[in-house]
Amino acid sequence: MRLRPLLLTALAVPLVLAPAHARIAHAQVAPSSDLVRAIDARLPAVMPKVVAWRRDIHEHPELSFEETRTAALVAEHLRGLGIEVQTEVGKTGVVGILRGGRPGPVVALRADMDGLPVTEQVDLPFRSRATAQWQGATVGVMHACGHDNHVAILMGVAEVLAGMKAQLPGTVKFIFQPAEEGLGGAKAMIDDGVLRDPVPDAVFGLHVWPSPVGSIGLRAGPLMAAAGNFTIVVKGRQTHGSQPWSGIDPIVVSSQVIMGLQTIVSRQVNISTLPAVLTVGQIQGGNRSNIIPDSVVMVGTLRTFDDAMRRDIAARITRTAEQIARSAGATATVTVDPSGLVLANDTSLTERMLPTLRRAAGEAGVQFINPIMASEDFPEFTRDIPGVFFFLGIVPKGQDPAAAPPNHSPFFFADEGALEPGVRSLAELTVDFLRGGAQR
Ligand SMILES: [Zn+2]
Ligand SMILES: [Zn+2]
Repeated sequence: MRLRPLLLTALAVPLVLAPAHARIAHAQVAPSSDLVRAIDARLPAVMPKVVAWRRDIHEHPELSFEETRTAALVAEHLRGLGIEVQTEVGKTGVVGILRGGRPGPVVALRADMDGLPVTEQVDLPFRSRATAQWQGATVGVMHACGHDNHVAILMGVAEVLAGMKAQLPGTVKFIFQPAEEGLGGAKAMIDDGVLRDPVPDAVFGLHVWPSPVGSIGLRAGPLMAAAGNFTIVVKGRQTHGSQPWSGIDPIVVSSQVIMGLQTIVSRQVNISTLPAVLTVGQIQGGNRSNIIPDSVVMVGTLRTFDDAMRRDIAARITRTAEQIARSAGATATVTVDPSGLVLANDTSLTERMLPTLRRAAGEAGVQFINPIMASEDFPEFTRDIPGVFFFLGIVPKGQDPAAAPPNHSPFFFADEGALEPGVRSLAELTVDFLRGGAQR
């Protein structure tokens, strides 16, 4: 797989690891324009609705590709605003197209809609009591990654921008995406043509994150890792637990393999350029104390920021597992998922839009953050189109972000104070980009 030009550009920028949450010094703030003032004028009427939508969506979360209630809510809202609507794009996705009264480029804004199989433990009047079937079991469902905020924010942005349609110099595409949580919702929408007719000139997206409420965090270049799963099947030979010499013990071999794998990132890869993480998260083998089983299955995840490094580590995983197994007379069959995209912010677009983000964040500020080993499917949208993705802080004032429950925790909590800067940032990025032209 070749390196994408976008990624190459991004990686050409030295990866200076700024201290987390370092404030940007000598911040340049974009001047307000008539379009920004029009956004300001509309926000007070729209924000109470955004809060209400978010609470409603939070109370009714839906799993990946099952977001039918959420999609219906979104579609009805967009239609009410006079926006062209396409439904069932990528199964349960919704797309809105707002054509401004003046000619100009096309901006796409993306919000993901799915919840997670997590039982909510936060004591809220609008807490989720929803359940669903997941992997054959009934599970609680929760917006534990905060996508309820993303949907409500983008609905608010649509209302703000639809209200100033005649003034808008260009087109806005609202992308409400299903199934971000590992099931390929972005790709499903792209396969259904979300990036065609019209083709966006830029894509923007945000994610709520445990940093101070209303603050914006981002970096130019690699921001979120590519994630790829791997599976290793170690095959030995089953025997009685009392006489291991009669068989080949795949449990002991698997233990050696795991320890061997842990030397790849720590001893064999130059992680001074870019970080990498290799985790074995699942191991299954055997069914009682006195039987040495026939085989063991291990499943893990590999997180990288560079395609060449990912391929190199994948080859080392295979070599390490196969040869350790061979040394014991066992075999190892290794499969490494070749997919997984790095989320890399387009360097020049990030630079161009930074003054806008500073103005939108206000006092809470913009911070340059370190790369994050979690992954996103947002980069599916930016394979051929420049994009900027940023984090929006949701930890209440006075609380330590480092101690806040992380995304995917049953205690994950988003302060509603983030909603207004969320709407403001996406709306202002849109009008500032449209006004400046595509500049590609
Ligand atoms: Zn998530
Ligand atoms: Zn998420």
